Amino acid sequence: MKKVLITGGAGFIGSHLCEKFLKEGWFVIALDNLITGNIDNISHLIENEKFLFIKYNVTNYLFFKKHIDLILHFACPASPVDYLQHPIHTMKVDSLGTLNTLGLAKSKNARYVFASTSEVYGYAREHPQNENYFGYVNTISSRAVYGESKRFSETLCMAYHRKYNLDIRVARIFNTYGKRMRINDGRVIPNFITSSLMNKDMVIYGNGSQTRSFCYIDDLIDGIYKLSIIDDLDGQVFNLGNDEEIDILELAKLIKMLTKSKSNIIFKDCMEGEPFKRRPDLNKAIRLLNYKSKVAIRSGLIKIIPWFKERLE
Ligand code: UDP
Repeated sequence: MKKVLITGGAGFIGSHLCEKFLKEGWFVIALDNLITGNIDNISHLIENEKFLFIKYNVTNYLFFKKHIDLILHFACPASPVDYLQHPIHTMKVDSLGTLNTLGLAKSKNARYVFASTSEVYGYAREHPQNENYFGYVNTISSRAVYGESKRFSETLCMAYHRKYNLDIRVARIFNTYGKRMRINDGRVIPNFITSSLMNKDMVIYGNGSQTRSFCYIDDLIDGIYKLSIIDDLDGQVFNLGNDEEIDILELAKLIKMLTKSKSNIIFKDCMEGEPFKRRPDLNKAIRLLNYKSKVAIRSGLIKIIPWFKERLE
């Protein structure tokens, strides 16, 4: 039976990946140190005989006796609030953790998929961002702990690919939302939904004209699965996300309307060093992975608002 190791397996994206690989007939080993992951995200999988959870910090040396076919390195605090709270750990996970998981992949001759981010494009001067754009980055902003570690990890992946012929693939993941995001995760969609459901102020950082393009979790998982199983993609980098761009003020108004909220939308200082416009160019993923981002923001929000509502009751 094919075996996949998923680091960050109890996280938001990681737990959906565990489900997807189990559904596709794989044996799944999930590692997570539960700093930002949550055991509740995978509690329904624990009894499954094809699932093994190990509480482990991937910044420590990794060793497995048995074979592993595929490694997905998805451990890392990913919300700005989280990585600003855990800056050193974030950098360790995407340096030491990447080295450890790449070393394991080399010893097992396993395929390796790295969870990178749109943040590698920094304050992009090109719009939309495609995979050939090198980014415009500030190494010393507080946010750089995340983006620079991801950039370093991408370079590590390519070095292992060139030096040892390791079959690595990189997914540059753009803003994604769905159930199992923590309600206090700090990202904009959980913040806006929870504030609006409680009729509290919805806080916009800046004037709300900054844009993002939000991907529904099921679309992303489908893309990562394809990126993991299609042959002959060694050394390739793919943007994954949704290319429907929306500004943050419009997002706030949409969520307020969908939740029938009485919240006020208020404005505070913008966050240091955050990108102003973000939208993926998905042509490469569409062409080589047959990737589709099917769920529009409005439909995705309608799907997840009840999930957040249940958690607030
Ligand atoms: N944002 C906001 N209010 C919030 C949380 C976030 O206005 O309560 C803004 C944030 O400044 C950024 C955008 O929403 O411009 C997306 O933020 P998020 O933390 O979700 O992800 P990012 O894309 O910045 O990593």
